[in-house]
Amino acid sequence: METIKQWKNICKAKTIVAVLNKKHFQASYVLNLAEAKEKLVSMIDDGASVALGGSTTLSDMGIVDVLRNGNYAFFDRYQNLPFDPDIVEIHRKSLTADFLLTGTNAITKQGELVNTDCTGNRVAPMIFGPKNVIIVAGVNKIVENLEDAFKRIREIAPMNSKRIKHETPCVETGYCVDCDCKKRICNFTTIIHNGIKFEGRIKIIIIADEAGY
Ligand code: SF4
Repeated sequence: METIKQWKNICKAKTIVAVLNKKHFQASYVLNLAEAKEKLVSMIDDGASVALGGSTTLSDMGIVDVLRNGNYAFFDRYQNLPFDPDIVEIHRKSLTADFLLTGTNAITKQGELVNTDCTGNRVAPMIFGPKNVIIVAGVNKIVENLEDAFKRIREIAPMNSKRIKHETPCVETGYCVDCDCKKRICNFTTIIHNGIKFEGRIKIIIIADEAGY
């Protein structure tokens, strides 16, 4: 039997799915991370080329191992290679992938997707390039409006900086000081207002649970 918290999260998921579909995204919801993984994998064609945006939600579901199973042409940015030129070259190739799999930093209640990136390799192909974009996000990513989306991103960015081991001031303080250092991870911010330009290109799986941060 579902708990009251699960029921609340399902309500949130259903509501945002309806908003996102009105905004011409292809959205649906699942109950948990395991179901999200099953659904995500079922949506990727065998033999397709696949790129991955940095995402704790996708990492937590073990998607890298799935993409390394030989069924896909995986643009694998998680190899132990130098960032420049090798990883940058993988990022370039990723722009033409059949599928981009990624999370999102925030979803407003009006159905906007808001993201901030260090390199641009995630936010750029979310907008244009890959034929399909599949976004997986927990209900904890839902915020009231754009202002709260930017606030959320500022709050979570230090955790992302710590996770990817960037030497930024926020890794010491735990909060954003709007730094000006080479390793800054907050360089490019995008708002995707809707999915109308290439209808059906952006698919969104909402998890009726907390996932990632
Ligand atoms: S702007 Fe700099 S200090 Fe602020 S969260 Fe981003 S990397 Fe950290």
